[in-house]
Amino acid sequence: MTKNYDVILIGAGSVGVPTAMSLGALGVKTAVIDKMPSPGQGENKHAIGGIRATHSDPGKIIACMRSIEIFSTWKETYGDDIEWLKGGYLFPVYREKEEQLLKSFLPIQKKYGLEIDYIDPDMVAQIAPGINRNGLMGGTFSPNDGSASPLITGSAFFRKAVQTGNVDFYFKESVKAINSAGLAGESAVLTEKMVGTADKRTGTGTSDKTGEITKEPLMAIQRREGNFSVVTDKDIYNAPVVIDAAGPFSRELGTMVNADGKMVDVNGKKISLDIPVFPDSHEGGVTEPVEPFFKTMLVDLRPAPGSKNYYFYQNGHGHIIFCITPDPPILGFDKRETSVFLPQVASRMLNLMPRLKNIRVRRVWRGLYPMTPDGSPILGWNKDIPGLLHATGMCGQGYMLGPGIGEIIGRMVTGQLTETDKVVTDEFSLYREFGGEEALK
Ligand SMILES: Cc1cc2nc3c(=O)[nH]c(=O)nc-3n(C[C@H](O)[C@H](O)[C@H](O)COP(=O)(O)OP(=O)(O)OC[C@H]3O[C@@H](n4cnc5c(N)ncnc54)[C@H](O)[C@@H]3O)c2cc1C
Repeated sequence: MTKNYDVILIGAGSVGVPTAMSLGALGVKTAVIDKMPSPGQGENKHAIGGIRATHSDPGKIIACMRSIEIFSTWKETYGDDIEWLKGGYLFPVYREKEEQLLKSFLPIQKKYGLEIDYIDPDMVAQIAPGINRNGLMGGTFSPNDGSASPLITGSAFFRKAVQTGNVDFYFKESVKAINSAGLAGESAVLTEKMVGTADKRTGTGTSDKTGEITKEPLMAIQRREGNFSVVTDKDIYNAPVVIDAAGPFSRELGTMVNADGKMVDVNGKKISLDIPVFPDSHEGGVTEPVEPFFKTMLVDLRPAPGSKNYYFYQNGHGHIIFCITPDPPILGFDKRETSVFLPQVASRMLNLMPRLKNIRVRRVWRGLYPMTPDGSPILGWNKDIPGLLHATGMCGQGYMLGPGIGEIIGRMVTGQLTETDKVVTDEFSLYREFGGEEALK
């Protein structure tokens, strides 16, 4: 049976689930489709749970500051514990190179309201007891950053989305084709909401004389930006808006649009829907629990043979959770753990914090960053396929970006985009040059 919605959201992961929560709260009838059996079972559950707003560019800072508000107030707002731990992020410095780099970010980080400072070695050692003081020059510390459990938040956001009464999740269903040419089956039932004069492509609301964005809910939907039918291995779904939140599979999803390979026919014009998202594998690990002795996320930016930075923290149960950035990157979908990871990361962690010695590692895993060429996400409407919205390429930060990005998507779909949102969407546009590289990616 064909099912009709306002929005079809592909992917119930770090981005998809909080986005569904936001759309549902705004009254948008949403179908979330995922091939996995439950929420957050793609890359979401591979994240180690780090949440920071201390980035080097405004888009990520803005989105993550909002995410932190959501994560950090979740328990007092909704009652369930997502294991939010406000331990801050500490970047210890042992070389002038990192000192200069980290100090160069401070003006922009402060401009956007982040609480962050360069601190001396004594303070570093206070926050991270047992850190190697040999050559320690100081570091940056941002006390409001923290961590939470990706497994628990996946379920918490899912329940909240369902409670809105506007979101249906379809698990164990693989999207096979996205037909942008017209609706399949019965014609779509659109939500009865007010119609406005949004910009057709971006879905933004019109400004009134004061420059404020006028609220024009469900604009993109009312204007029937697109007429999609999404075909899965089980069913067909119709909607005027389709959101790609497929993470590392977004490139593959792009080739499914109009089901004839990478070339898409839009009003007689052939365009390529090649979404620049590449799976880049990273491994993580967790130790047995030990008496809590630090709670900050420690990020060591120094490179070493075979790896770039690595980062770890101790969660509220006492487990130390860690991962590393391989160098060169390991591209592809292979998620089998390697024999290289543990010796590589353990020796670096022990060098930084010798007292970690003898703590036993319980488990390692390998997952995929949905990487873009410049290390920044992709968020925005497709210019050539009206109604197709990309929310992908979150790289190593999809978990922390998810809730903030989810709310922005809610405003994009309902025509309530703010000027601050536009800073984010301009920076994360699919149509940018992809030339640079985000420094703290
Ligand atoms: C070791 C490691 C540590 C990490 N640590 C952190 C961290 O501390 N903090 C942080 O913010 N990030 C971290 N990340 C990165 C984070 O995990 C990702 O950025 C994030 O999960 C990506 O979110 P997403 O929603 O784009 O993708 P996902 O969470 O993978 O969601 C995409 C979903 O789309 C579904 N899907 C795809 N194609 C289809 C289809 N055709 N049909 C149906 N369903 C489909 C998938 O099944 C999946 O569930 C880490 C990653 C790794 C590997």
